[in-house]
Amino acid sequence: MKVAVFSTRRYDKSLLTQANAAAGHELVFIQDRLTSETAALAAGCAAVCVFVNDNVDAQVLELLAQQGTRLVATRSTGYNHVDAAAAARLGVEVVRVTDYSPHSVAEFAVGLLLAVNRKIARASIRTREGNFELDGLMGFDLHGKTAGVVGTGKIGTIFARILQGFGCTVLGYDLYPSPAFEAAGGRYVGLDELMRQSDVISLHCPLTDATRHIVDASTLASVKPGAILVNTSRGGLVDTEAAIEALKTARLGGLAIDVYEQEASLFFQDLSSTIITDDVIQRLVSFPNVIVTGHQAFFTQEAIGQIMQTTIASISAFERGETLVNRIPAA
Ligand code: NAD
Repeated sequence: MKVAVFSTRRYDKSLLTQANAAAGHELVFIQDRLTSETAALAAGCAAVCVFVNDNVDAQVLELLAQQGTRLVATRSTGYNHVDAAAAARLGVEVVRVTDYSPHSVAEFAVGLLLAVNRKIARASIRTREGNFELDGLMGFDLHGKTAGVVGTGKIGTIFARILQGFGCTVLGYDLYPSPAFEAAGGRYVGLDELMRQSDVISLHCPLTDATRHIVDASTLASVKPGAILVNTSRGGLVDTEAAIEALKTARLGGLAIDVYEQEASLFFQDLSSTIITDDVIQRLVSFPNVIVTGHQAFFTQEAIGQIMQTTIASISAFERGETLVNRIPAA
């Protein structure tokens, strides 16, 4: 099958080619993001393969469907960048990667938490410049503190298990409580109580209409003063301007994000020689107690390998007319 692979980076090209060796699909690698301007590049491709910052909205889906695309395969778990209702209306199937190393993201979230709490990135920059001063690098023990996990699915539960190992009390909030989270030592509470009691809050729910800005000015007004917020899920979960205000007033003691609301025009590119016009991200990175990474929590050998294999398997299953086990839930 001919497949247009958008947002291709060097590692996508080599690993997807490797995963495709036996299947033999014709992969057309495109570096650009999928948008209404670039959709024409997929002309003649029955399948389109996308990533988190590709724009698969109704307009793009219409353009793709007119050109004969019948399958969209996203190399991600989250599918908030796809208009599921429009795809269903146009008869375009959408598959994702439901299962790939959730450890990759959970471990990275813990890494971000430690880095921001213990000022590891700042300390490393200092020592490179010959500054071995400790002033400004003090953190707090995680042992004995309370960690709040919003979204206790695969990633949230592993995060909870790790923090339980640190000696934290782990609180959770989810629409659908899971025995696995409780077995990991977590206790369910309401969102408000989680925000009020947690020293550390980590977001692991998908971005939906219900979760957009689940952390906003009013939520932040109720967090424990000095709490650290970690977001490795989706940028839209946090109202970034409100988070900046909470950092300015020290209501938030630290912020560590791997995802950002306006990341589509920034992430996965080297912009170090250009003028960045997004003042919000520039303000964020100016705080000494903020760490921003460019959506890399999934980026481990194990996770990427599974992502590529599942993507190719879904494309092959579609070609053979088999049941699509990784189809996104109905809108
Ligand atoms: P999952 O489906 O196993 O878990 C998500 C949990 O969120 C579920 O338990 C669900 O019930 C809960 N949830 C849904 N709506 C909610 C709401 N309104 N309030 C509270 N909880 C709600 O998914 P997962 O594999 O654990 O992934 C979680 C998220 O992590 C993904 O949706 C994706 O956005 C993000 N992610 C980020 C990266 C990265 O590289 N930064 C990589 C993979 C996944």
